[in-house]
Amino acid sequence: MTAPRSPTDFLAAEVHELEAADLDWKLRVLAGPSVPACTIDGRSVLMLCSNNYLGLSNHPKLKEAAIAAVRTHGAGSGSVRPIAGTMDLHVELERRLARFKGAAASLVYQTGFAANAGLIPQLVGEGDLVVSDELNHGSIIDGVRLSRAERAVYRHAQPEDLARVLSEAERHVPSYRRILVVTDGVFSMDGDIAPLDRIAPIAAAHGAMLYVDDAHGEGVLGPGGRGIVAHFRLSRDLVHVEMGTFSKAFGVVGGHVSGSAELVRFAWNKSRTWLLSGSAPPAVAAACTAAIDVLEGEPQHVERLWTLTRRFQGALRDRGFDLGASATPIVPVIVGDSAKAKRMSQRLFELGVFALPIVYPMVARDRARIRTIMNAALSDEQLTQAIDAFTQAGRELGIV
Ligand code: PMP
Repeated sequence: MTAPRSPTDFLAAEVHELEAADLDWKLRVLAGPSVPACTIDGRSVLMLCSNNYLGLSNHPKLKEAAIAAVRTHGAGSGSVRPIAGTMDLHVELERRLARFKGAAASLVYQTGFAANAGLIPQLVGEGDLVVSDELNHGSIIDGVRLSRAERAVYRHAQPEDLARVLSEAERHVPSYRRILVVTDGVFSMDGDIAPLDRIAPIAAAHGAMLYVDDAHGEGVLGPGGRGIVAHFRLSRDLVHVEMGTFSKAFGVVGGHVSGSAELVRFAWNKSRTWLLSGSAPPAVAAACTAAIDVLEGEPQHVERLWTLTRRFQGALRDRGFDLGASATPIVPVIVGDSAKAKRMSQRLFELGVFALPIVYPMVARDRARIRTIMNAALSDEQLTQAIDAFTQAGRELGIV
């Protein structure tokens, strides 16, 4: 008799398959804070791939706010928001965020993922249509999957194609109950900006709701880093949901949506991720409010981020690197196939720069890249060191 197979045999088998294809995630360990000169896997390197755009994760005001909140409110919130987990710290954060965004109201979720996965399936359901940019983030894709709505995809950042999809949808019988157009604000693999100024009137002309995921735009785009809606000076009558995260430029963790008072009341009554999952701990809520304080009071961080971005992009383009469509501090350095991108990342690490490769199937086979993200806390010398390392590694590998 053969030994009975374990019902969990597939775990090792599937991981092995990923490892054999070199598609498994090897976790790199950061010792200490996420700062430009950091220690990864025991080696001193320059951090060039965190989402901590403004360096706020280690800002003294955020750290002090977190410590003070633990002293006054404890380590945890004790509940989900609708039962006993709404603290004055959450309410204050939402008030400050709405003011910062120039919106009527804001709602804070535990993460950005929870915001997309919780709200999208409530905005649309059976008999509805979601129209999504083909390169939207996975949390949007999962939110859409959780809805029972029909899905259509338009070509990346092409408003003309969105118009085509919406016109076709108008001929659908029976006609859709509601239509939701959803897009990332800044695309995380390419660093390009969604043409929201052209998307918004098209969505409006077809009577569709518009939802923008501004995870990589807030703290980066618009006056004082107020995000993509402010960047394009769009009316809130056209952009119905502005979603974002505290895990990137704000330097902490948490998701949020901003819009009308009705949107926020709807979201908190309906989003299952919000209703059924514990609320942010006091330290997190207070640190997020402190991040807004810093954005409002210290505009130099956003300015510095753009100065460094322009310098880095200019220097790499001058040396012949292909940076794709990057128009933001997300700067992909396109190198070709996956194996080359992995070699480039390894060589950069040896040269003292930490930046990970993004390879197929996350991007097209011949568009593997090193995805770098600028950080306002980098010094001029550190940026020069990064440019030199890219130049040396790029020449050694025949990329430039
Ligand atoms: N949307 C986009 C575009 C993102 O890049 C991310 C984070 N990778 C999220 C949503 C999820 O945000 P969070 O980290 O707060 O869950």
